[in-house]
Amino acid sequence: MDVTRLISERALAIEASGIREVFRRRADMKDPIDFSIGQPDFVVPEVMKRAAVRAIEENKHGYTMTQGIAPLIKKIAGHLERDIGWPAARCESSMIVTSGTSGALHIAMLALLNPGDEIIFGDPYFVAYPHMARLCGAKPVFCDTYPDFRMSAERVERFITPRTKALLLNSPGNPSGAVTPARGCAELLELCKRKGVLLISDEIYDEFCYADALEPTGLPGGQMRCPSPCRVKGSEDSILLIRGFGKTYGCTGWRMGYTVGPRALIEQMLKVQQYSFVCAPTPMQWSCMEAFDIDMRPQVDAYAKKRDLVMKALEPLTGLQRPGGAFYAFVPVPKRAAASSREFFEKALTKNVLVVPGGVFSERDTHFRLSFATSDAMLERGLVALAGLLGE
Ligand code: PMP
Repeated sequence: MDVTRLISERALAIEASGIREVFRRRADMKDPIDFSIGQPDFVVPEVMKRAAVRAIEENKHGYTMTQGIAPLIKKIAGHLERDIGWPAARCESSMIVTSGTSGALHIAMLALLNPGDEIIFGDPYFVAYPHMARLCGAKPVFCDTYPDFRMSAERVERFITPRTKALLLNSPGNPSGAVTPARGCAELLELCKRKGVLLISDEIYDEFCYADALEPTGLPGGQMRCPSPCRVKGSEDSILLIRGFGKTYGCTGWRMGYTVGPRALIEQMLKVQQYSFVCAPTPMQWSCMEAFDIDMRPQVDAYAKKRDLVMKALEPLTGLQRPGGAFYAFVPVPKRAAASSREFFEKALTKNVLVVPGGVFSERDTHFRLSFATSDAMLERGLVALAGLLGE
């Protein structure tokens, strides 16, 4: 039977060759210095592991409510009130625990986007964004943010059309690590409100924010935190917030995330989740109850040091922008080193170093992504090799 003729246009519209090629090359390598990985190298905190095991031993294997278990929703809501000032009661009644951050993004787009609608995000972007939009028949609109990778109202405004449904902000960003400052966040929110566009804030890296990018929250407690548009008073009516557990706690395979936002949208997303993912994985929901009592600052501080190692080795050779958060650097390839990031990717492979060519995340092919989520020893070895190639 010729199954190929049965494949949907929707699936065929997805072009995954760039990232697939990186995976394929990794499979062929022996002990690579792997800078392609999008997850932290530390182990999941012991209390979370134990809670997951306990949930399984207590036979918590069945479905949960579509929106997630009530005690976890309560925990998340309490955290959000302390962190961004959204009222806990409001968050509790307008939240979905999702199958990863990706699960939240999918159900959001399915509930928002009609064929032909537009969704704007910064270029470079998280690799899945354009494909998620295309799966809905919508048009991804790329807002070029080179060379500093910051989204700003000024940069975005000209891309808004009558078909624009949403602006997707990802700060700290993948693949650049760029952090949008609080003032820029507030201006983006103001623009979205003026134009009647939903602001979706993908804050999967919210805990991975380094000292130089932190700003005061203005909330009781006087903490310094990663800037977020959600801290603008009353913003819960205009922002769909999406966060995850995978990166912060090193458990990307647990598939845990959550989303909070305008009630009318959450109700629609709940229907989509009910008939797609059904619910987030049950034992992991119980385990993530422990997450908000764990201090991940030591791990994040260790990553700040890794970021500094990358800057020290590569900034003088490339003019690389300092990542304020996440665990990626998006490194410009000097013309003397290679004509394109594809070509540089091949050159790095000859030194047994795996990076990701920038064209995977961008309409341009001028940079490469280096994930520094690896051991200091591996990082130092790989940086020497890359500096050799970039200095040539
Ligand atoms: N958003 C961004 C910006 C990401 O980098 C990732 C993962 N690399 C995701 C969403 C998806 O995360 P999850 O594993 O929670 O689905």
